[in-house]
Amino acid sequence: MIEKIHGKHYLICDCCGDEFEFDSYDKAIQFKRENDWKSRKYNGEWEDICDYCMEEIGE
Ligand SMILES: [Zn+2]
Repeated sequence: MIEKIHGKHYLICDCCGDEFEFDSYDKAIQFKRENDWKSRKYNGEWEDICDYCMEEIGE
């Protein structure tokens, strides 16, 4: 998920809870793209999964 807290954007892996801080939403999206994070729908909610967890899951 990407959360906005006090003007900062946090990209958080919904699997392992790893957290990255960005100045803007666009930078968070760019980071996701460059680092092979994946978005997937789980129980009707979009989740962001980091590259490490994607390897563990094996999808
Ligand atoms: Zn993860």
